[in-house]
Amino acid sequence: MPMTALDIFKLLAKKNCGECGVPTCLAFAMMLANKQTELTKCPYVSPEVVQQLESSASPPMRTVTVGDLEIGGETELFRHEKKFFNQTAYAVVIEDDSDNESIAERAKKLDAMKYERIGIISGVDLIAIKSKGDAQRFSEVVTLVKENSGLPLVLMSDDPQVVEAGLKVVSKAKPLIYAGNANNCAALAKLARQYACPVALYSDDVDELVSLSEIAKSEGADDIVLDLNLGAKPLRDALEWLTILRRLSVKKLFRPLGYPIMLNVDNGADVETQAIRATLGTLKYASLIIFGDLDAARLYPLTTLRTNIFTDPQALIQVNPGLYDIGKPDRNSPVIVTSNFSLTYFTVASDIEASKVPARLLVVDTEGLSVMTAFAADKFTPETIAQALEEYKVAEKVDHRKLIIPGMIAMLKMKLEELTGWEVIVGVKDSSALPKYLKELASG
Ligand code: SF4
Repeated sequence: MPMTALDIFKLLAKKNCGECGVPTCLAFAMMLANKQTELTKCPYVSPEVVQQLESSASPPMRTVTVGDLEIGGETELFRHEKKFFNQTAYAVVIEDDSDNESIAERAKKLDAMKYERIGIISGVDLIAIKSKGDAQRFSEVVTLVKENSGLPLVLMSDDPQVVEAGLKVVSKAKPLIYAGNANNCAALAKLARQYACPVALYSDDVDELVSLSEIAKSEGADDIVLDLNLGAKPLRDALEWLTILRRLSVKKLFRPLGYPIMLNVDNGADVETQAIRATLGTLKYASLIIFGDLDAARLYPLTTLRTNIFTDPQALIQVNPGLYDIGKPDRNSPVIVTSNFSLTYFTVASDIEASKVPARLLVVDTEGLSVMTAFAADKFTPETIAQALEEYKVAEKVDHRKLIIPGMIAMLKMKLEELTGWEVIVGVKDSSALPKYLKELASG
C-alpha cells in the first residue's frame, strides 16, 4: 500500500528548514504522497529512509524514453482527474527482407507522414524494424533506416544476437528492444542495461508477464514496456485487460506492472482492423502501438483522436495573441479581429488563406476562449480589442483605419469606434463565409 503523508512525515528529519522548496516537512510529505515532488529535494533523508520511501516516492507508471520520445508516466485512470501526460506513440513496421530501395523509400515516407492541425504537428512517431533472423542483414537494414529517417526505432527480434547487431549501429539513439519472452528475457534485459536502452517484454499470460518484469528488473533493466498480446485479442478482452493493467499500475501501485503498456496490432490483420484496434488502444491506455502498415487516411483520424484525448482538459489550447500576416499583406490590406482560441485562429486563418486576399489577423488575448465564450465571459470586449490594436501597433502597419470584427459581436461596434477612432466593420458570423466576403471586399 502507498504511504500516507503522515507515514512519510514520520520518517523525515523534521528540521522545517525549507531547503526542499516548501516551508515545512509536513508540506513536503504531502507533496511526496501526491507525487508532486521528489525525495532527492530533501538533503537530510538517510539512505535507509530513501529505501523505505522509494516505492511511495516513485511515480506509479515509469516514464520510458525511446529515442527522444517519452511514453508512459501516467498517473490517472481518467483524463478529467488531472490529465494524461504522454500521448500514445505510433510505430510502423519495416521488414528487413525487402530490397534496400523499398526500405529506404518506406523509411523516408514514414518520416514525412506529418501534418499540422490547430498548431500541433502529428504523424508516425517511430519505425519498428522487424528481423527475419539474420544478424548481418538486420544490421544493414537498421543502418539504412537510420540514414533515411530521423524517427526513433524499435528493434524487433527474439534473438539476442540479432538485437545486438542492431544495437551496435544505433545504441546512442536509445531504440526500444522488442521483445523479451520466457526464453530470452534475461539476455535482452542484459543488453538493455549494457546499451542503456528500453526493453519491451511479451507474454500472453499476465502472471508470466509479471515474472518477466521482475527478471528484467533484477538484470538491471529499468526502462520496461509491457506487451500482453492485447493487439491480437478480441476487442472486449483487450479493453478489459488494458483497464485492469492501468488500474493495477496507477491505483494499486503494483510495481511489476508499473510500466507503459503497448499493443502490437501487426498480427496479419488488415489495415482496417489494425486501425480499429489502435483506436481502442488510443482511447484506453496503450502508450505505444505497432502497426504493420498505416496510411494517411487512417493516421489522420487516429492522431486527431489522440490529440483530443491527450490535451490537458484544464488548459485551453491557445495561440499567442498578436498581429499575424496571412499571405503577403500590404498597407491597404484588411485587418480582421479574432480570439486566441487555437481552433478559432486556425479556422479563420485558413479561411482567409482560401480567399487568396492577403490580410492581417489581429488575435486578441481571450485566455484561449472562443469568440462567443470570450464575449460572454467579458474577455472579448471593446477595451481588450482596443488594447490589442495599441499593443501590436496596428496603426503603424496600415494606411487605413478599418477593423473587421466577427459578425457575432456586432454589438461592440459603437463602443469600439468610440474607443479607437477606427471604423469598425461588422464581418461575417461564420468563418466559412470569409473567403466570399473578402473576395467581394477586395473587388469592390
Ligand atoms: Fe524538512 Fe527536508 Fe524539507 Fe528541510 S529539506 S523542510 S528537513 S523535508
